[in-house]
Amino acid sequence: MMEQSYDVIIIGGGVVGCAVARSLAFQRCKVLLLEKEPDVGLHTSGRNSGIVHAGFHATPGTLTARLCVEGNHAIRKYAESQNIPFEQVGTYVVAVDESQVPALQDLKGQGDRNGVPNLSLIPVSKLQKKEPHLNGHTALYAPTGAIIDSRALTKALANDACRSGGSVLYWQEVKEIQERADAVTVVTRDGRYRADLVVNCAGLYADRVAHSMGIGGEYLMVPFRGIYFTVTRSGPPIFHSIVSSLSNVSLPFFGVHVTRTIHGAVLVGPSAVPVLDREAYNGFHNRFSSMAKFASQQVVWKALLRNRQLLRLAWKDDSHPQTHEYFWREACNVLRGLEMQELSLGSRVGIHPQLIRTDGHLVDDLIVESTNRTIHVLNMVSPGMTCALSFAKWLTDRMQGSGQGARFKTSYWANVS
Ligand SMILES: Cc1cc2nc3c(=O)[nH]c(=O)nc-3n(C[C@H](O)[C@H](O)[C@H](O)COP(=O)(O)OP(=O)(O)OC[C@H]3O[C@@H](n4cnc5c(N)ncnc54)[C@H](O)[C@@H]3O)c2cc1C
Repeated sequence: MMEQSYDVIIIGGGVVGCAVARSLAFQRCKVLLLEKEPDVGLHTSGRNSGIVHAGFHATPGTLTARLCVEGNHAIRKYAESQNIPFEQVGTYVVAVDESQVPALQDLKGQGDRNGVPNLSLIPVSKLQKKEPHLNGHTALYAPTGAIIDSRALTKALANDACRSGGSVLYWQEVKEIQERADAVTVVTRDGRYRADLVVNCAGLYADRVAHSMGIGGEYLMVPFRGIYFTVTRSGPPIFHSIVSSLSNVSLPFFGVHVTRTIHGAVLVGPSAVPVLDREAYNGFHNRFSSMAKFASQQVVWKALLRNRQLLRLAWKDDSHPQTHEYFWREACNVLRGLEMQELSLGSRVGIHPQLIRTDGHLVDDLIVESTNRTIHVLNMVSPGMTCALSFAKWLTDRMQGSGQGARFKTSYWANVS
């Protein structure tokens, strides 16, 4: 079979792969994006909360902190230029009573250190005109928090890549990568493609692709399923922006929050419950081999025991009889006047690809590992969509910086921040 040749092959058409493909295509690279599904954005990138995070959650000094703040700005500019549904509604984090105010001040300090613009602490009583249902004592307000149609963003990035000379092929699940000194060959069920460099943006499967190249062995991806409830009341939305309680901010994946979507629904969620399959969107695990393999891995149990918060979250599965009440209570922490019967289980389900070290510790920053001719993007958990554009710039800047014509010296990437 004849191999078609490219400068760079990207594996995965989520928001990250599409952003990287666009960035490279703009730099006149001959880029090919291979996606296993019939369209882009069908997994995590099309199933998230659609929040463009302001950047106060991330630990100062981490790559995620930097990329989130830069990415927030980049997405706003991009959405405006492409007419992608986007609204800068602002984000609130509320202290339920006075005792939580010092911790809220600390969170503001963290956001200031990350460079989040114009953060302020506001008594909730002064916000009643804007958000009459907001509950609590004091709110941290981040005006750059925004909402977007994440699937539309992903598709726009892919279209942009194609308009600039890149190619996207669907139904092309990458089965094997053969790396040699002079090039890499990527093998799918019905094709072989040759490139100088491969970038693995396979999301929920990125660890598997990395492991197949003999790297990232110290990490395992554990899928955490996130469901949402929807507020069903008629009339204007009960809430217009994004809010979470202070006690949820430090939870893995930021805990349950309330957000209006760009299409006018009000979501309460997501949860984060460990599941045994990477695509267990319906909660039912029908791939027995994958379940059995996952459950037999000691590191998974070690991680759950080591991270008590995860255990606490684990029982809040949507099949649990208390789940409805749990989501309602979470919403009532930040909203007034919501009745339990106004919440119904929504259809949106996403799966967080959380990386865990073999010693059981959760990885809380983005990881980029590489071989000479392959780069692997691991742990793109929330706020991965917000970071997508700035990450693509970060990555492609480094490719140019150490490039030798169309050949890239990729060993430079490992553990850089
Ligand atoms: C419930 C939930 C809510 C979230 N909310 C937010 C939010 O509000 N704001 C925010 O910034 N972030 C949020 N995130 C995080 C964000 O959605 C992700 O970080 C981001 O979408 C990851 O994008 P990705 O391109 O890495 O992965 P994906 O979107 O999963 O894309 C990976 C792609 O690779 C393809 N693929 C996989 N294996 C192969 C293969 N072998 N061959 C070819 N193709 C392959 C898949 O089909 C998929 O299309 C949320 C995540 C979850 C789970």
